[in-house]
Amino acid sequence: MSISGGCELCTTGDASFGCDRCGKLVCDEHYDRDSGYCTECAAELRRPHDPVEERDDDGFDDGVDTYRVD
Ligand SMILES: [Zn+2]
Ligand SMILES: [Zn+2]
Repeated sequence: MSISGGCELCTTGDASFGCDRCGKLVCDEHYDRDSGYCTECAAELRRPHDPVEERDDDGFDDGVDTYRVD
């Protein structure tokens, strides 16, 4: 397997690693050795769902039906 060209993230580094997830060829700086992914994928996996971003303008209105004052 011959890897030539630059890192797909910074385009300047030497692409010496392949991301196991998206397949991007990245340089040492953009490769997360712990996960075997590029830093982009690693960052995504670290914060899978940010609930704040998924809600539009709802804010933190507690529409939950857990308030019972009997
Ligand atoms: Zn890079
Ligand atoms: Zn990736």
